[in-house]
Amino acid sequence: MANHKENPETTVTSVGRESAAHVGVVNTPVYRASTILYPDVAALDARDMPFTYGRRGNPTVRSLEDAVNALEGAARTMFFGSGLNAVVMAILAACSAGDHVLVVDSAYAPSRIFCDKTLRRFGIKATYYDPLIGAGIAELFQPNTKAVFCESPGSLTFEVQDIPAIATACKPRGITVILDNTWGTPIHFQPLKHGVDLSVQAVTKYIGGHADLLMGYIAANEPWASRIVDMHQNMGLYISGDDCYLALRGLRTLPTRLKRHEETALRLATWLQPRPEVSRVLYPALPSDPGHAIWKRDFTGACGLFGVVLKDVPKAAVDAMLNGLGHFGLGFSWGGYESLCVPSDIRRTAAPFQAEGPVIRIHAGLEDPQDLIADLTAGFDRLRAAG
Ligand SMILES: *Cc1c(COP(=O)(O)O)cnc(C)c1O
Repeated sequence: MANHKENPETTVTSVGRESAAHVGVVNTPVYRASTILYPDVAALDARDMPFTYGRRGNPTVRSLEDAVNALEGAARTMFFGSGLNAVVMAILAACSAGDHVLVVDSAYAPSRIFCDKTLRRFGIKATYYDPLIGAGIAELFQPNTKAVFCESPGSLTFEVQDIPAIATACKPRGITVILDNTWGTPIHFQPLKHGVDLSVQAVTKYIGGHADLLMGYIAANEPWASRIVDMHQNMGLYISGDDCYLALRGLRTLPTRLKRHEETALRLATWLQPRPEVSRVLYPALPSDPGHAIWKRDFTGACGLFGVVLKDVPKAAVDAMLNGLGHFGLGFSWGGYESLCVPSDIRRTAAPFQAEGPVIRIHAGLEDPQDLIADLTAGFDRLRAAG
């Protein structure tokens, strides 16, 4: 075993389990608790119990935290009611009134909206940068820059950021690097090992995996651990044992599901590329993708989410394609077992995204790829008939 590197499929079956502490049952049960009883006043005064108050954790939350800490290589991980809440809290933890944060132009739209509206009210200024900037980020540092917010690959446009180069530029200035790693998941990319301070994940997507959970986390390195814990506690945040149980259950099959998502996405992307209706496919796992080299250097795999730039056709033609799809649902979010296909509304200010036509986003689910290709083929027939 000495030189054997354990595969993620194996790791996720063992992390965060405490069967011996729970009469041998495989999974840590759902704990619902507000009050924790102490045996005597001395124990109460010393807060001498494994858990002191329900809001501050229970065994189900701890099992999930242990599991994520192991996968992320994190000192502490805190959980939030949504992925967006984790993004927001990471930025709020890193910045104070009067500070400046650099935000990637390809970020998830609600993250941008928070920066432009709420952050501004608290005297924190956000400016946007080109996702392909790499080490050039240093030229954008202002004396009050406290954090660089990254998301790689970017929502909707899928540019891969050079995270190690950005982290190297930030380190000597003490600038905090935050990365929304939802696309990568802790299975395919471990942000803290690449110089990131705060690794943010929308658990809602692949860890949940079944379109029935909203959750986010911040996994922090050692220097950041106590600050994230304080932030979480001082803001009165709490995630239920029920939700933590669902996240743990999803985690057990995450690497196995991701393999199938990736396989199917690659198959669809390769099939889509030469189609006459398609201008480009935005998927870093494709060798022709501009982000492929950095993706290959830093990631161990891809998920099932990618973009498709169509040739220039009217909106009505795209609507006709999407409206009749059978296996691809029309809905936001992704990472569940089911396929999805939605039009992309791309908002940029620092580095405009040039598209030849409308852009759609596909989530390749766990269905049979041939069935999905048949569905898309019929969709393209409708698109051409309506165009
Ligand atoms: C969905 C998503 C989020 C937000 O997650 P919610 O749980 O829906 O709040 C954040 N970042 C990315 C990249 C996402 O796709």
